[in-house]
Amino acid sequence: MIYFDYNATTPLHEDVLEAMVPFLTLRFGNPSSYYQLGRDARQALEQARRDVAVCLGAQPDEIVFTGGGTEADNLALRGVAHALREKGRHIVTSAVEHHAVLRTAEALQADGLDVTCVGVDASGCVDPDQVGRCIRPDTVLVSIMAANNETGVIQPIREIAAVAHAAGTLCHTDAVQAVGKVPVDVGDWGVDLLTLTAHKIYGPKGSGALYIKRGTPLLSPITGGHHEQSRRAGTENVAGIVGLSAALRIVLESLETEGRRLEVLRQRLEDALGAQLDGVHVHGAGASRVPNTSNLSFARVDGEAVILDLDLHGICAATGSACTTHEPEPSHVLLAMGVEPRLAQGAVRISLGKDSTASDVDRLVGVLLDSVPRLRRISSFA
Ligand SMILES: *Cc1c(COP(=O)(O)O)cnc(C)c1O
Repeated sequence: MIYFDYNATTPLHEDVLEAMVPFLTLRFGNPSSYYQLGRDARQALEQARRDVAVCLGAQPDEIVFTGGGTEADNLALRGVAHALREKGRHIVTSAVEHHAVLRTAEALQADGLDVTCVGVDASGCVDPDQVGRCIRPDTVLVSIMAANNETGVIQPIREIAAVAHAAGTLCHTDAVQAVGKVPVDVGDWGVDLLTLTAHKIYGPKGSGALYIKRGTPLLSPITGGHHEQSRRAGTENVAGIVGLSAALRIVLESLETEGRRLEVLRQRLEDALGAQLDGVHVHGAGASRVPNTSNLSFARVDGEAVILDLDLHGICAATGSACTTHEPEPSHVLLAMGVEPRLAQGAVRISLGKDSTASDVDRLVGVLLDSVPRLRRISSFA
């Protein structure tokens, strides 16, 4: 099997597993308990919090652990909207966000909030000036992702945060696909809230965090005990949190070398396909992208058919968007970029990671060179 879907999830790094095991076995205490076993779990939890904070350029009390990226996005949007409901009822986001943000914004809209979705240009970029023009006196939050999960396109977060702050508004970024792929520093970017998740960086599923800058108003939608400074009630997932901090430390150790390696592999893929097949489109190629992601359309072929063919050859890749696999509609991200619906339907996402090699890429290219022309001959596309 060859795995090319690292943007959907990643295998657990063995050192991460090793760091987690004690907290699933002997060191099973509840961090809220006062006896030694509980204090031991508390100590591990707070060490993980310090480690995650250092990795992001944050303070430990600015890190709230969550049950993953989706929950952190919900906490950011719902938490700020709720806390600032007297100040205003408007948020600004973008048309290319992950559903964790888009659907949450829609749910808030159903509750009476106003939502403005800024568009993107043909390469998938949000224009900070356009964000600025959308901000109103009653805007409470701007939420724009740092890197797109489908195309890898990187947004100008520093500029967007500056525009938001100049207008007196808070700024959240979903950095799930940026963390571990490009340098992420909350102070450098100037954001007030930032989402990350462990399972996209070789950590466990169901473990994430929200950075919340000191003083940021936030009323948690999750009620219960006083865990996580009352911002995320529920007994902490100690093993998952230890796993998140270990994964983050490990992935940052080789950020630059691994980034360069993956960029070379991606170039090899895109060059080979572009040279040997006609009608190949690389979405977001005009923008700066995280180094591991390639979103390609093959004209006159359905992306789904390509994915099935790759699967028959033991190759795992995604259609336009993993989260819409069971919907026939083309990706909202590609449509927002102005990609023709039929071409968007043909999109295939290849995302590389730590076990990807040049020979894996060559194998993928070989299968596609055989598959795409054959699918074109039998396809219903005119
Ligand atoms: C995967 C992903 C999420 C969701 O994270 P989970 O931990 O799977 O809930 C949110 N945003 C982006 C950009 C993602 O890629």
